[in-house]
Amino acid sequence: MKGAVIHGARDVRYEERADPKIVEPTDAILRLSATCICGSDLWPYRGINPTTEPTPIGHEYCGIVEEVGRAVTSVKPGQFVIGSFFASDNTCPHCKAGYQTSCQHRQLVGGAQAPMLRVPLADGTLVATREAPPAELVPSMLAASDVLGTGWFAADAANVGPGKTVVVVGDGAVGLLAVLSAKQMGAERIIAMSRHEARQNLARDFGATDIVTERGDEGSARIKELTKGIGADSVLECVGTAESMRQAIGAARPGGYLSYVGVPHGVQLDGQELFFTHVHLHGGPAPVRRYLPRLIELIESRTIDPGKVFDLTLPLAQVAEGYRAMDERRAIKTLLRP
Ligand SMILES: [Zn+2]
Repeated sequence: MKGAVIHGARDVRYEERADPKIVEPTDAILRLSATCICGSDLWPYRGINPTTEPTPIGHEYCGIVEEVGRAVTSVKPGQFVIGSFFASDNTCPHCKAGYQTSCQHRQLVGGAQAPMLRVPLADGTLVATREAPPAELVPSMLAASDVLGTGWFAADAANVGPGKTVVVVGDGAVGLLAVLSAKQMGAERIIAMSRHEARQNLARDFGATDIVTERGDEGSARIKELTKGIGADSVLECVGTAESMRQAIGAARPGGYLSYVGVPHGVQLDGQELFFTHVHLHGGPAPVRRYLPRLIELIESRTIDPGKVFDLTLPLAQVAEGYRAMDERRAIKTLLRP
């Protein structure tokens, strides 16, 4: 088969790769219906995380089960399934507590920008839909694999609920879907921080009530102004930079909740400063698996349409252009058709 391989900074190639095979009896092989490029794939793409050898890339996926190992019992060939970027057994103490991305047996699922994919720990990782979804729902199912699940965790971890004032820092796909998630959880006011018109429009479409264009300390000050000097109940940090984290802490009210779901790069927190904020912090790699059954239900019933974050669809063969478009912020998120 041919799939995406990253060779170095700004060098992603569509090239021959080995067909995936069952290695462990707990594996499944999927034929992917769609895959996509993640904001976090841009870290190696931009050379911020160095690539030392050619590496298959991609970790968002949904598709039809092609084959399962002999120990797999919960999914079978022909079913449409979704999984997340960490395979998990869904039975260990961490999984039972809802933190499948800290599973004692977790394994990274990599190389998903391809027509076929091996998923380890299939029973614990994959969730099947009742039937194969119609084509128009596939982008939303794919979004559930990572960006929707991550946005949902951001809202859940920041204690979003009815009547709350919520700030979302970051207007990438995760930030936009964090807006959607906050809306679903009943937030009264949702302030999205964005400077980009297309993203502001999508944020409004997903439920944002206010847009703030200022950044950094100015951004925090603007939030305080909008909340009568109090600050937000919940702040969802969906970027992972020092500036966005600082802005997020500055936007929360004393006793407020701050979630952080972007992989941190260069974030350092000052203990004293944190101490005097009274802010609850909760974040990490989103345990998407915890939310998948609920998210699939919301998509199947057409209650939510997270697939709208894909504003560029390309054949997998044009994966390099998909990366360029996201790197240059011409696209929010690129869907790839194998
Ligand atoms: Zn586990």
